[in-house]
Amino acid sequence: MFSLSGITPSGEAHLGNYLGAVRRWAAEPGPEDLYFVSNLHAMTTRHDPGRLRVLTDHQLALLIAAGVPRERLFVQSDLIHEHMALTWLLECTCTFGEARRMVQFKEKSQGSSSVRLGLLTYPVLMAADILLHGASEVPVGHDQNQHVELARTLARRFNTDYGDVFTVPQAVLPVAGARVRDLAVPTRKMSKSSSDGSGIVYVLDSPEAVRRKFRRAVTDGENTVRYAPDEQPGVANLLEIMAACTDTLPDDAAKGIDSYRDLKEATAEAVISLIAPVRERVLQLLEERSELQKIRAEGAERARRRSRDRLDRALSLAGLK
Ligand code: AMP
Repeated sequence: MFSLSGITPSGEAHLGNYLGAVRRWAAEPGPEDLYFVSNLHAMTTRHDPGRLRVLTDHQLALLIAAGVPRERLFVQSDLIHEHMALTWLLECTCTFGEARRMVQFKEKSQGSSSVRLGLLTYPVLMAADILLHGASEVPVGHDQNQHVELARTLARRFNTDYGDVFTVPQAVLPVAGARVRDLAVPTRKMSKSSSDGSGIVYVLDSPEAVRRKFRRAVTDGENTVRYAPDEQPGVANLLEIMAACTDTLPDDAAKGIDSYRDLKEATAEAVISLIAPVRERVLQLLEERSELQKIRAEGAERARRRSRDRLDRALSLAGLK
């Protein structure tokens, strides 16, 4: 049993990524689990190459700084030949109808006049990520379930048509982590793809920037600090964030706080205590470039060694070797 999880450098990592995913990856890495920076997935819309390079480094540094064991890490493009070879085998296994039915493709392509082909085929790349490394479990949210289902279909079809080589993966619900919502629009998930960054707290934000963002967080006119997600989503989000940072429950986090001003201040300080040391370590790693490069190269070599036999066998079964 081992699971595979990724973080996509389509924007700077934020508090949602940290509290909902990265912190958990660091706390409970299975002995076989793999975590990767999925930079090939950050190209399905027009992208800035320089920014992609920088964000890839930032996210690798974040995973290391957060404490994800370095021997569990790799950057996807360091195995570009392997991932692309398997993507092609799987594109030749997947039907156009299957790709076109993906809900995320329909949603993201709607209204756009120049949809990149990569947006249609990225679930096949995701299937290749999973099958190449032989992951048996893929922790995903509801929105990615359909893509794991596709990976299962492709694994089964390839195994039946050409020979048994791939583990059929299973989607598993991630262990409940915090679901962090945007501070400016508290009904929306904090997300790298939001166009307006004012409600997003980035892991690399300075403590002053974090305080400023929390001071401006949207609340409501009730002026009562209590945990009522439906009626007071902004206040509930702050309480959930504080609870996640201090390992308590949102109801308990509300105790002793009487004003929104105090709530915002207390939440900002809880966030800063948790992420400031991580930010410092990220900045330090980004200074020590040779150390980062070394970890990256070793991770790539390890992941390549682990996947080599499986890929060779798949290429051979497909008649290419
Ligand atoms: P992504 O931003 O899509 O690369 O996601 C990387 C990881 O962060 C995934 O495991 C997501 O489920 C998690 N994640 C992203 N946004 C949030 C959020 N607002 N709250 C909690 N977890 C999140």
